[in-house]
Amino acid sequence: MIIILGSQATDAQIDDVIHRIESLGLQAHLSRGTYRTVIGVIGDEQKIAAAPFEAIPGVAQVVPVLPSFKLASSEAHPLPSIIRVGDAKFGGGHLGMIAGPCAVESAEQMDAIGRAVAEAGANVLRGGAFKPRTSPYAFQGLAEEGLKILEDTGKRHGMPVVTEVLDPRHVEMIDRYADMFQIGARNMQNFVLLTEVGRTQKPVLLKRGMSATLKDLLMSAEYILSQGNPNVILCERGVKGFDTETRNLFDVAAVPTLKTMSHLPVIVDPSHATGRPDIIPSCALAGVAAGADGVHIEVHHAPAEALSDGPQALLPLQYAALAKQLRELSNLMQQNPS
Ligand code: PEP
Ligand code: MN
Repeated sequence: MIIILGSQATDAQIDDVIHRIESLGLQAHLSRGTYRTVIGVIGDEQKIAAAPFEAIPGVAQVVPVLPSFKLASSEAHPLPSIIRVGDAKFGGGHLGMIAGPCAVESAEQMDAIGRAVAEAGANVLRGGAFKPRTSPYAFQGLAEEGLKILEDTGKRHGMPVVTEVLDPRHVEMIDRYADMFQIGARNMQNFVLLTEVGRTQKPVLLKRGMSATLKDLLMSAEYILSQGNPNVILCERGVKGFDTETRNLFDVAAVPTLKTMSHLPVIVDPSHATGRPDIIPSCALAGVAAGADGVHIEVHHAPAEALSDGPQALLPLQYAALAKQLRELSNLMQQNPS
């Protein structure tokens, strides 16, 4: 970390800063220029990050040298991480294909959709058993009954399953049924929940909050990683924009940007990003062209009867056509890496 002193800083203030640094067991390297004096701070990163250097009289600016998301950062881990969910792989040239309905509604519904997406080549089945709904009167999910149906369907069609966890008290239960936790956009900064899934070794699909910066997303990933769970996959699912033509603003630039910042796999969710089946395929392809390690898509065999997010669901045939294009594009990308 580098501390830049104000141009009016007195010798006494500079001595005070050095004294405070040394009293924390850290080293101070002073460098006096004609106009500015800077102090390099060396030592235990955690102590440096926790100290309120900005508040010391005479200090103008504090510049971190390392990112604060040190476990998630590509500096800590230059090679891309490959995360396994059952037999599916995400990252390092492997394209994960997550598909399924927004919510688990019944065994029949899950069987019809599970069969269709497995045939289309999806390698992870999704379905919400606990749904975060804007209205308390909307369908909230089938809870543990939904988890059982999801697990059964996944086994029957040979796919691992992912489902959203809303509450730290449900982590243990969901851990018994699912192969991957999903932390939704609304909970990206629920630090208690992040800490709780971080205590397991189960992969976590961490969705970007709707007004979260990429640093915010990586700091949330850091919560999970710092608890000892290295299996985190990041997901761009659209942020709040001002246009009302799409449900959210699909930030495709987040994909290559996150990959310069972090070694973690990054996937896209064009279903929640756009909310429009007519443009989900183009946005999914754009995500893979931008380097995404996976695609998360909502599919329903009867969207008009769906209990949540029906209007944005792709039909099984539409998903099958898209899945084929995504695989072809991904193969092309591997042959011609950018
Ligand atoms: C979902 O995946 O159904 C969901 C609620 O996603 P998000 O958290 O991205 O809104
Ligand atoms: Mn949904």
